[in-house]
Amino acid sequence: MKGTDSSKSTQCDQILAHLSAGKPITPLQALNEYGCMRLGARIYDLRKTGYTINSQKIEVTDRDGKKCFVAEYSMPRQLTPDAQDERDDFNELYAGRGCTCFQVAPCTFCTHEGNPVNQAEDETAWVGGDV
Ligand SMILES: [Zn+2]
Repeated sequence: MKGTDSSKSTQCDQILAHLSAGKPITPLQALNEYGCMRLGARIYDLRKTGYTINSQKIEVTDRDGKKCFVAEYSMPRQLTPDAQDERDDFNELYAGRGCTCFQVAPCTFCTHEGNPVNQAEDETAWVGGDV
């Protein structure tokens, strides 16, 4: 049985999973991928539950070749608990210190797993990323 409420919360879950993976979403994508007709309302629901969701207007070209603006929603990516631990270690060890590659290359600063620069490129460090 498929009531309005359950499909509403399923859509919220799907959209939340999409956003948590660090991917932005537009109303058209929400419709195509999740059958969600009212993305704005679902975003409103998620924000009400306490999630931080950014929105911005992006320019798109419609099927007649005309430019128009649509809302695009995104969430800041979240580190996985393991990656967050490594980040915490890193901050504790290296906070405020630059790398020392001029002495030994590459230095432990550069190669440390919690280095934000390394984590930014490591999909497995982020919730919803490819593991
Ligand atoms: Zn270095």
